[in-house]
Amino acid sequence: MSAVPDGKKLVRSPSGLRMVPENGAFSSPFYLDEPQWVPDKECPRCMQCDTKFDFLTRKHHCRRCGKCFCDKCCSKKVPLPRMCFVDPVRQCAECGLISQKEMEFYDKQLKLLLNGGSFLVTQGNSEKSEAMMCRLSNNHRYLFMVGVSHLQVELARISSVQILTDGFAPGEKDIHTYTSLLESQYISEGGNSRPSGMLLQYKLPASQEIQQLRLTAHEERKVAASWLAAMHKAAKLLYESRDQ
Ligand SMILES: [Zn+2]
Ligand SMILES: [Zn+2]
Repeated sequence: MSAVPDGKKLVRSPSGLRMVPENGAFSSPFYLDEPQWVPDKECPRCMQCDTKFDFLTRKHHCRRCGKCFCDKCCSKKVPLPRMCFVDPVRQCAECGLISQKEMEFYDKQLKLLLNGGSFLVTQGNSEKSEAMMCRLSNNHRYLFMVGVSHLQVELARISSVQILTDGFAPGEKDIHTYTSLLESQYISEGGNSRPSGMLLQYKLPASQEIQQLRLTAHEERKVAASWLAAMHKAAKLLYESRDQ
């Protein structure tokens, strides 16, 4: 397991207080950098409603996109955990909606991922599978699988995530597929059937060789299905931010 300590420090940015990892290289894969603010002189008018800025109509920057708005178009303060803000911060309407949806991920799915689920894990083309508990590490950087043996997969090294649903084999329809998360290509998102497994492709550190793991829901299937659905959301979030 990773021996890196997960120390955090409080830093002050123009947008508010942030709680960030001591070592930036060890930040959560869900982390987003703060945007560059559009310089004041480049925005004489609100970028949403076109109201001209003057002494009374003051400028505000959205903390998520860095664009410039009047108070009316940028009044909402919304939590933004992906940029590590301690308190809710000012965001434009569009960004506020995205951040609110992400809060659901932080409140629900992320907790499920940290709690884990039990799976039968098959490595590569092996015939053998092993019963393992799979969970996301506390710093969100690894999937830990623990049974008789131990496995760890770094999220940043995952190249594809396929969520398998009941009754379908890989390659058939109704499979949620995220391919090449590293290269940020999106394939398809299928229906709403209950997730029953996951196919992961990833690279080991300092290797270009693709490894494959297959996880099949085991024992508490309902917990495993929720864990897989949460993993699906996580993959989507990672995919979308790599594409931004
Ligand atoms: Zn406005
Ligand atoms: Zn915005």
